[in-house]
Amino acid sequence: MYKKFYEFGLSDSVLSSLSDMGFEEPTPIQKITIPLILNGQDIVGQAQTGTGKTAAFGIPIIEKGKRSKVPYAIVIVPTRELAVQVAQELNKIGQKKGILSVPIYGGQSIERQFLSLKKGVDIVVGTPGRVLDHIRRKTLILREIKITVLDEADEMLNMGFIEDIKKILKEITEQRQTLLFSATMPQEIRNIAMKYMNHPENVYVNASDMVVAKIKQVFYEVREEDKMKALTRLLDVEDPSLTLIFCHTKREVDDISGKLQQMGYYAGAIHGDFTQSHRDEVMGKFRKGEIDILVATDVAARGLDIPDVSHVINYSIPQDPDGYIHRIGRTGRAGKSGIALTFITPREYRQLRLIEQTAKTKIKKAQLPTKDEVKKARADEVIADLGQEISKGKHSKYISLVGELSDKYSSQDIAAAALSIMFGDMADDIEDLGEKHQGTRSGFVRLFMTIGRKDKIKVVDIVRSISAEAGIPANKIGNIALFDTFSFVEVPSDLADRVVSAINNVMLHGRKVKVQHAREKR
Ligand code: ADP
Ligand code: MG
Repeated sequence: MYKKFYEFGLSDSVLSSLSDMGFEEPTPIQKITIPLILNGQDIVGQAQTGTGKTAAFGIPIIEKGKRSKVPYAIVIVPTRELAVQVAQELNKIGQKKGILSVPIYGGQSIERQFLSLKKGVDIVVGTPGRVLDHIRRKTLILREIKITVLDEADEMLNMGFIEDIKKILKEITEQRQTLLFSATMPQEIRNIAMKYMNHPENVYVNASDMVVAKIKQVFYEVREEDKMKALTRLLDVEDPSLTLIFCHTKREVDDISGKLQQMGYYAGAIHGDFTQSHRDEVMGKFRKGEIDILVATDVAARGLDIPDVSHVINYSIPQDPDGYIHRIGRTGRAGKSGIALTFITPREYRQLRLIEQTAKTKIKKAQLPTKDEVKKARADEVIADLGQEISKGKHSKYISLVGELSDKYSSQDIAAAALSIMFGDMADDIEDLGEKHQGTRSGFVRLFMTIGRKDKIKVVDIVRSISAEAGIPANKIGNIALFDTFSFVEVPSDLADRVVSAINNVMLHGRKVKVQHAREKR
């Protein structure tokens, strides 16, 4: 088997570009596909994100091409971000050889794309809709196309582009080489391969050999309402360099990124509602480390090459196993190790097991950091900061002041007092996670009450009122969870209706309270 890039018989110009890019050795999928593609083989390549698929097709395509006016290769990708990113990578590989790649995607002025296509492009990288658009307008000339690549085919399928892809493939001449890459291989993708490809060679790089093996995967059982607190605890204790947080919905993304920002974390958000330029801006800040937490939906993060993400956090469990692979593939890229943390609510165990089975991976259960661990992590950070301050000599302007104080106090007292002014109580904002209240006790049901902390009510007040109004002994009342504007009360199932009718619409603590059976959590 080939080991080094030069053993593929690549030209000096390509080898020199690769060395400029810092590629020392081909990745496993590159080792297999480069010689096959150079040979003219059709390929169906399956390997998860971060395994270097772009260069796996990019290197041989550029090796085989020559600078011309009309495109000889076309790469179809699911999103505009990916179009830009793949074109960039291809331009780097083709830099010394002078092979030009251009991204075309919806949202960018079609006239501008028109012009660059006219000026002469060697490789077109585009999203399905926009490529079709250019084909129809005859602004994209297909007659010289010798190689077609479908990148992230499963994503294109998920995004409903399958018909567009078939149309494009039909337009392109029969005498072509077709390469298809996908992290997963659903049946529809296999069908495309059978119908439109010429005896494709199946290339499969085993997930367990690859990135997943290098990613530490754990899950935490967290109730929906505790997720935010759990998240900040983890961020404090794990001290990640760059974190990507995945959510189901755009609203969740807004909500979580907003809360994190309020709490002083450097967080940004991307989802489909933002304009392209806003997304580019956020991504730029993330790459530069100006923000170190990015909250995203699956769609927005699709295919993005974000270097050095140390942690992927699944704030919401991915909808399906493929989604999980895609998400955690954002860390542990190109041989680096990474950490993937997943929150699941008690009802999501089945989904978790399905992910483990399908993705052939093991996700271990872990306990959230305790308050003490958070405190310790914060203390460590203070110690590290102080050490840095001293080693940089930034503290020197205060030394004479400390000198004056040391006539009266010990240096320990002075330093501790200074820290106390700066940080207050280091742990008083670490909220409880309600660990004791996991799930409703058997024989009990949960009631929802429209009164909470803001009404200055306490647990004892609620117990006393229920006991008095419904005429049941206080010790029969189960756990009570107080929130700002509402609370949950566990009562024995057989007494629940009695409590509801006794308390509903009754004045408690000067407020009329509504009580009803709590909806089961998601
Ligand atoms: P995939 O398409 O499989 O998700 P990419 O093609 O986006 O992966 O590659 C992931 C990252 O790894 C990119 O930053 C890419 O530049 C880098 N990379 C690819 N091949 C190599 C290599 N042989 N050596 C070092 N880095 C590589
Ligand atoms: Mg890719």
